[in-house]
Amino acid sequence: MNIPLMDLKAQYLSLKNEIMHAIERVIDSGQYIGGPEVRQFEQEMAAYTKAKYAVSTANGTDALVLALDACGIGPGDEVITSPYTFFATAEAIARVGATPIFADIDEKTYNLCPEKTEEKVTEKTKAIIPVHIFGQPADMEAFMDIAKLHNLYVIEDACQALGATYKGEPVGSIGHVGCVSFFPTKNLGGYGDGGIVVTNSKDIAEKVRLLAHHGSRKKYYHEIIGYNSRLDELQAAILRIKLKHLNEWNKLRQQKAAIYSKHLQDLELIVPFNHPDVRSVYHLYIIQSEKRQQLADYLKKKGVATGHYYPCPLHLQKAFSYLGYKESAFPISEVLSRRAVALPMFPQLKNEQQEYIISVLKKFTGESR
Ligand SMILES: *Cc1c(COP(=O)(O)O)cnc(C)c1O
Repeated sequence: MNIPLMDLKAQYLSLKNEIMHAIERVIDSGQYIGGPEVRQFEQEMAAYTKAKYAVSTANGTDALVLALDACGIGPGDEVITSPYTFFATAEAIARVGATPIFADIDEKTYNLCPEKTEEKVTEKTKAIIPVHIFGQPADMEAFMDIAKLHNLYVIEDACQALGATYKGEPVGSIGHVGCVSFFPTKNLGGYGDGGIVVTNSKDIAEKVRLLAHHGSRKKYYHEIIGYNSRLDELQAAILRIKLKHLNEWNKLRQQKAAIYSKHLQDLELIVPFNHPDVRSVYHLYIIQSEKRQQLADYLKKKGVATGHYYPCPLHLQKAFSYLGYKESAFPISEVLSRRAVALPMFPQLKNEQQEYIISVLKKFTGESR
């Protein structure tokens, strides 16, 4: 057995003809940046997330940067987010000149904790970025309440959670603005980089579009200093095909997660917590083990790949040393960083592969007891 953490090729093979056709159609059209595929994909993404507007960007990091910039956030402002996420979340805050302020996560959901977030609100706070980590929606109602009370923006980092729901509503359009990544390994991944900003605010959508196109509405006339951040026609055409399958793929992820949890919860491993208000899309299936390295090595020896998300929480990253955080500032994030193991998770994971992974884990916990 040789089981990867994720298998992008299996998904590609299932759609190969359709995708090759679309690629040919786009290249034949001679239109590669800003064309009908991008326009239609933006409409389809707005519909999918139940947002009024969707503006595509070059990647998910840019989606966050442009969303922050469009909300008028910059030097002197503070933005509160989780230290237990991919670097880009806080990088985007620093990139617009604002200061990332971290608050610890909830020990069950691994998402930014609303109470600890509120403790960090100051006069300078302009926004909160809850990250729907590993595909599980954060407590949006609590964040929206805090935002209303303190007059803040809520920017959802939905890069790992497209298709997930919070109290029945799709993530991305619950906050003031939502950011999605189409990095190849994401639940909806292109064959290159891509991202999108979704929002119900006409002002934010127009500002993001203006910023993404060099601050220009009329060709060669520039109102503000912007960026060059665009999704291309090829990626849009590919993503349009894949978007039609996203719900079915997410459902398969949920089924596989349920199988893992059913079998692993009796072992000395902590399986993902299922909050009754949300439907996670299991971008990653994460277990906690006090013997993370031993477990990862054992699985590797048996042909099962694992991942480490994330070995270093953001407040301890060298790049953020200027913020002055010390070890044990955020104990829950730090424990997770030491214990989290990602098991193979992708829609095409076969039953026999999953049975094998479970049997290897049973053997490991039996032997290491
Ligand atoms: C992937 C990811 C991003 C960045 O997206 P890119 O498209 O790689 O720039 C941001 N935040 C989170 C939580 C992510 O997982």
